Amino acid sequence: MPTAETRRVLLIGLDSLDIDYVESHLESLPNLRRLFDGGVVRRLDSPGNVMSASVWPTFYTGTLPGEHGQYFPMQWDPATMSLRHVASDWIDCEPFWRPLARQGLPVTTLDVQAAFPSRTTAGTEIVNWGVEAFGGFHCNRPEIGREIARRFGTNVLGPDVPVDKSPRRLAEIRKTVLAAIGKRGELARWLLTSTSWKLFVAVFPECHRAGHYFWRDPTDEADDASDDALLEAHRALDREIGALIEAVDPRDTSVIVFSLLGMGPNQSQMHLVPPVIDRINAAFASPEGADSSDRPRRERRVVRLLRERLPARLQERVALAVPEPVRDWVTSRAYAGALDWRRTPGFPLPTGGEGYIRLNVSGREARGSLARGSASHRRYLDTIREGFLSLRDAGTNEPLVETVYLPAERFPGPRSEHLPDVAIAWRAAAPSTAVRSDRLGSFAGRLKTGRGGNHRPVAFAAVAGPAGKSRRAASLGTIIDLAGLVRDLAIRSDASK
Ligand SMILES: [Zn+2]
Repeated sequence: MPTAETRRVLLIGLDSLDIDYVESHLESLPNLRRLFDGGVVRRLDSPGNVMSASVWPTFYTGTLPGEHGQYFPMQWDPATMSLRHVASDWIDCEPFWRPLARQGLPVTTLDVQAAFPSRTTAGTEIVNWGVEAFGGFHCNRPEIGREIARRFGTNVLGPDVPVDKSPRRLAEIRKTVLAAIGKRGELARWLLTSTSWKLFVAVFPECHRAGHYFWRDPTDEADDASDDALLEAHRALDREIGALIEAVDPRDTSVIVFSLLGMGPNQSQMHLVPPVIDRINAAFASPEGADSSDRPRRERRVVRLLRERLPARLQERVALAVPEPVRDWVTSRAYAGALDWRRTPGFPLPTGGEGYIRLNVSGREARGSLARGSASHRRYLDTIREGFLSLRDAGTNEPLVETVYLPAERFPGPRSEHLPDVAIAWRAAAPSTAVRSDRLGSFAGRLKTGRGGNHRPVAFAAVAGPAGKSRRAASLGTIIDLAGLVRDLAIRSDASK
């Protein structure tokens, strides 16, 4: 009997599907159960513990964030001193399969998160058919793109605006998620039969959305609706995974089902970062505590206040309706508007839950004021570290911060300057509403993302088919290893024609 060989590779990415949740619900998820029972399952390390949104570029480039430079859809542009959407004309990244496609390997990809539109005609690459972030639908083969729009529509999931959600809005999200999973499954199966492929990558981002909004609020014991909605989304996803695997030949197709992040109760304290930085900066400017020149802060507060006081549904409607440049302008103003750069050593950046801080380094930022390596620079970093480590929940008296990272030290590389200069990892605790610090005083605030669930750094891959028996699959250790494994399998499959 000939040894089973990989002739095709089917990669199914499940965005933020939590392995512990899956393992504890396997009785309701028969297809994942079959895969977990019959394949090799590996828990994988990832940079998601420092920067959660960096995991998709990390996966598709097979490199760490210091190499690829992407950690969030909106990043700081030091040349214009504003936030900007990451794009290929700024921080370009090539997925590992594109060179293979250019050499003739038939590749089809659907909605790999944070991937840029392909400008080549090699392979079939679909991006933003329906993903978590804002971005236009694109297929590098226009005739296929038009056919997809005609048969399946586009934007079935729609982007997410993280603000508080009413029960009615949550019921709409529940329906949208289910509809999107079903439609995406149909589209993926259609692509399996109507495009030529040896490597097929399909990503389902829907459980990411479901996890954010339907993760049970631990303080609400009667929250059965959330439990139902979450499990319902996972079951729908499980059916589509089963149908996709059913559509390929298990004897010669290696199947890799993976998730680059997990999901768990929201333990973010990101709402504290702007007021903490305001106080740190004031204390840094005048160590005696005298707060000079308050005007720029007041102007920026107006934009922050608008975001905090406008009803959540109105904020969501506006964000979904206005053109991207307007939305980006508002975000940029909320973070860095009206800052007096001569007196601003550092400022907060947008994040999905972590705390991120950019330093206003002279020579790097167009209007930088902090000399790199100076005594001031060191003192400011110490002030940030000590300030954040001093935060305690006023109710429990427990510290709120686990670690303060310097991402460039953690992820050195040619693009580490694109990363936040400081990243804050929170301790496991509910979002705090009242905080005290012996250094910075007391704060009150509330996390208003509407998200009961948030990412946690747990990744996994389940490998079945011929590659499931390989030593390589059994030794997968981090999410970076996936690119190497898939590349080798795909090259071998192409040679075995
Ligand atoms: Zn998310």
